Amino acid sequence: MARRKLVYEGKAKILYEGPEPGTLVQYFKDDATAFNAQKKDVIEGKGVLNNRMSEFFMAGLAAVGVPTHFIRRLNMREQLIRSVEIIPLEVVVRNVAAGSLAKRLGLTEGEALPRPIVEFYLKDDKLGDPLVAEEHILAFGWAQQQDLDDMVSLALRVNDFLSGCMMAVGIKLVDFKIEIGRIWQDDFMRLILADEISPDSCRLWDIETGKKLDKDVFREDLGSLSEAYTEVARRLGVLPANSGPAVRPHLVN
Ligand code: UDP
Repeated sequence: MARRKLVYEGKAKILYEGPEPGTLVQYFKDDATAFNAQKKDVIEGKGVLNNRMSEFFMAGLAAVGVPTHFIRRLNMREQLIRSVEIIPLEVVVRNVAAGSLAKRLGLTEGEALPRPIVEFYLKDDKLGDPLVAEEHILAFGWAQQQDLDDMVSLALRVNDFLSGCMMAVGIKLVDFKIEIGRIWQDDFMRLILADEISPDSCRLWDIETGKKLDKDVFREDLGSLSEAYTEVARRLGVLPANSGPAVRPHLVN
């Protein structure tokens, strides 16, 4: 294969120049990191599962009218996406108290929240992605008021869709993180969903047993991350039923 131009390498994904202007190839790595990359490992097959699951969610969201960067899956680890200008904010939606919210406000993990809560974190690894208020976002010009309103409504639509998908397969969507990008079309700017949606960026608990099926399995050393992700993928119907572990590539492509 001809050598492609690397555009950006992150902790779990690599972006290459795409075949046409305005496109990129998003490659899903097997690398797992937590606590701002202080904890690292390679989880064989994770990239394959996340590529599939992100495709599943992005295509489903597009079908219900949520604009996303996803164009099509290219192979086991790569998808073609639209190139966007990423807004430097992580948008977190929470339905149930967990993680940093539970810690910050002294809530019990698992406590239902009175309504979905949308938060913004500044994308800055050096600072450890701090929580920021709308005031900071507007004052420092990371986004405008209209962008913020659009981001909140987009995030809540994603929450409705994902909660439903998960509920249908016996999984509680506790919280998740999305990233949003800008694209320009004929002088108009639009916001679209970018990055990925996978168990790397969600908290997913089995409704019956409370078992964690997301990256907390890695963060908290709760067992096999690969088994947890395979379980989510299988329930969603993203992997054929009774297929072997995701590390056997011929079974998942
Ligand atoms: N999250 C993420 N990337 C980050 C930070 C958080 O995908 O850099 C996700 C995380 O997996 C969880 C949600 O966002 O589903 C809320 O995370 P939280 O603020 O509780 O932080 P954490 O406890 O994960 O550090």
